[in-house]
Amino acid sequence: MARVYNFSAGPAVLPEEVLKEAAAEMLDYKGTGMSVMEMSHRSKAYQTIIEEAEADLRTLMNIPDNYKVLFLQGGAHQQFAMVPMNFMKNKVADYIITGQWAKKAYAEAKLYGTANAIASSADKTFSYIPDCSDLPISENADYVYICENNTIYGTKFHTLPNTKGKDLVADVSSCFLSEPVDVTKYAMLYGGVQKNIGPAGVVICIIREDLITEDVLPGTPTMLRYKTHADAKSLYNTPPAYGIYICGKVFKWLLKNGGLEAMKEYNEKKAKILYDFLDQSQLFKGTVEKKDRSLMNVPFVTGSDELDAKFIKEATAAGFVNLKGHRSVGGMRASIYNAMPIEGVEKLVAFMDEFEKANG
Ligand SMILES: *Cc1c(COP(=O)(O)O)cnc(C)c1O
Repeated sequence: MARVYNFSAGPAVLPEEVLKEAAAEMLDYKGTGMSVMEMSHRSKAYQTIIEEAEADLRTLMNIPDNYKVLFLQGGAHQQFAMVPMNFMKNKVADYIITGQWAKKAYAEAKLYGTANAIASSADKTFSYIPDCSDLPISENADYVYICENNTIYGTKFHTLPNTKGKDLVADVSSCFLSEPVDVTKYAMLYGGVQKNIGPAGVVICIIREDLITEDVLPGTPTMLRYKTHADAKSLYNTPPAYGIYICGKVFKWLLKNGGLEAMKEYNEKKAKILYDFLDQSQLFKGTVEKKDRSLMNVPFVTGSDELDAKFIKEATAAGFVNLKGHRSVGGMRASIYNAMPIEGVEKLVAFMDEFEKANG
């Protein structure tokens, strides 16, 4: 059975090497006589798995000692609530609205306090990142919130906003580990792993230690307090054990392949192939302002719904799958995460070129 080129925005492509390793260990993980799914999360074998995963992530991202790494559940959506519940001491937070995910986080924060939308790119269907060099940051804001890479619209903050000294919280779900980051610029960054790291069911939170306190909004459930999970090293209750194991394998795969510097170079090379093609094409057009283009999610259109549908149908038949754009924007979107091989992008572009010649 042949594997396809999977351009899904998430859950998304994983490194084949990792999948093969997991398959080989399915019935007997390192002489335990059982799979990782079947073992106690309190066992020695599992302890090693989760500790190595955290250590490898710390190495990959150069995470300072005063940041905690938490492996949680509930997806990015749960963080939309956990962030305000844990951080809204003054009950004020500023949100920069660059797409649907930021909008949802903003709406959720409103349940807990005053959330201010201090910038937005809604006026042009989120096709750009607003100028964030001098925003009206609220004097008593507990934090400033961004969605760093906008999975649906294909934009990315290439410069972080000037928060005027306020703590920055970022949803990095769809750009996690795609390039090096300076963790110290964030109070917290978090992401669901199903975009660029592993199977759905795990969300990784990296939080500056001093922010993890007992001083949370009244009524915050034990399970939704960062302190609960930080104190228990992500083993307060049964964690998404198998998912963390796969994440750990992906971290090792990244380390073996040169880490995030090498990943960035590879991702830039891949994205350039697709963007260069779009920039010269008479049929296909990118939908995003060039300066704000994402390396991970590349939306494009033909300008005709009929041709879009025809393209998606023929591409799928040729083994390029999940190219349909998000239901809220239409058109096409190629998600080209870390694990998408460069051949996948080259072949997609060759296919697009043929399609253009036949339909242009
Ligand atoms: C996919 C995605 C989400 C939603 O993730 P869930 O795990 O389904 O809650 C949130 N933010 C970003 C940037 C995403 O790409």
